[in-house]
Amino acid sequence: MTHNISASKGRLTLKQALLTLLIAIVISLVAGAVELFGYVNSMREDIQQRTTQQLAIINGAAAEAAFQLNPDLAHQIAYGLFSNSEIAQVTIQDDFGRALAEFYPDSPPHPTWLSKRLFGDILHHEMLLNYYMGSSMPDAIVGEIQIALDQGYLTERFLARGYLVVGSSIFEAFLLSSVVIAFFHFFITRPLLKVHSAITQTDPAQPGKWPKPTLRGHKNDELGHLVESLDHLLNEFQVGLEQRDHLHQLSQYDGLTGVANRRYFDSFFAQQWQWAKRAQQPLSVIFIDIDNFKEFNDHYGHAMGDDTLRAVAKALNLCVDPQRDLLARYGGEEFVCVLPGKNHAEAIHVANCLQSAVLSLAIPHAFSSTHTHLTASMGVSSMLPDKSMSADDLLKCADQRLYHAKRGGRNRIQTSERPA
Ligand code: GH3
Ligand code: MG
Ligand code: MG
Repeated sequence: MTHNISASKGRLTLKQALLTLLIAIVISLVAGAVELFGYVNSMREDIQQRTTQQLAIINGAAAEAAFQLNPDLAHQIAYGLFSNSEIAQVTIQDDFGRALAEFYPDSPPHPTWLSKRLFGDILHHEMLLNYYMGSSMPDAIVGEIQIALDQGYLTERFLARGYLVVGSSIFEAFLLSSVVIAFFHFFITRPLLKVHSAITQTDPAQPGKWPKPTLRGHKNDELGHLVESLDHLLNEFQVGLEQRDHLHQLSQYDGLTGVANRRYFDSFFAQQWQWAKRAQQPLSVIFIDIDNFKEFNDHYGHAMGDDTLRAVAKALNLCVDPQRDLLARYGGEEFVCVLPGKNHAEAIHVANCLQSAVLSLAIPHAFSSTHTHLTASMGVSSMLPDKSMSADDLLKCADQRLYHAKRGGRNRIQTSERPA
């Protein structure tokens, strides 16, 4: 496993952070828009109410000025209104429509799309000036007062509030997402990384021995269950691997003696023949057959025969190099030794060792027709493989020599065509 832990860590946290931030900003902006919508409505109502109140308050004094055609008084009243920052223009007229007092802004207003949309319909207000003529007479209309509100000023006030709302919404979004990201990282991403790292460190050959992580606080939740399920799975996997190894072992080794079986010998020998042919290296084979074993069994019993076969196999095995050579049970009381890279002289050396190994066991064989103790006969054959020879030729040759060793009296090593 070669996954990059730090890369996956960054990606998961980053993805989650971006998503959380996006959601938080969208929610905050929607909430901010709703708040601003409410604010602009209450602002409009407030402006209208205040303007109407202001006009009502100055109505009496302005009517007096209009009735007296007193521009100074009208001027004073209009100036009082004009000094209010919300008001951009004030006109007081007499009943003939002539202006008694008038105030304009220095520069004409520049309405924007936003200012028109928010306040365009509530900018202009007029009120007729009613002059009180005594309790027996109806009020006389002596003029009119007109005011226009400063849409630039109103829009600025709205925008100031808007910036505040949007700014605080985004700040809240950051704050909220930071809390969510930290929570997500500590409670989900970090435990997941722990599991991932444990899996990365697991030896595929021994999955049951994985460094099972302990996720504190997650014992009974999905993450805890994930670890338990993984643990169960890896342990089952381990059992499967052990069964496979056991079957593999059974398929390659002989159950009685523990040395390689005939099947393993066949594939090993074919493989070594090919290798020797390619590398132009010698390959030697020794056939080993226990002498008069039928009699041994007949007189000492089959169980004793089995024990003897085990003892012989163990002794023979000490003569071969376990890294290069192979000792296999060819069948019955017959063994075969494959010696890759060894020439005839080296193979004879091994055969001598094998013979001594059997003799040094000193197993009594009172019913042997030839010797007093257990012996074995051997046929040794070596070849430098070329195109004219086959692996079978080598085996046949060794087998033939074994036959000659038997014919020659047993307990001997036959190393050439002619019986020694
Ligand atoms: P030779 O010297 O010519 O080899 O005589 P031999 O009696 O060894 O040869 P033969 O082939 O006639 O007999 C082989 C005997 O090996 C027959 C059988 O009882 C015995 N044998 C084969 N396999 C086993 C085994 O797994 N366990 C036991 N106890 N005996 C076995
Ligand atoms: Mg035999
Ligand atoms: Mg035999």
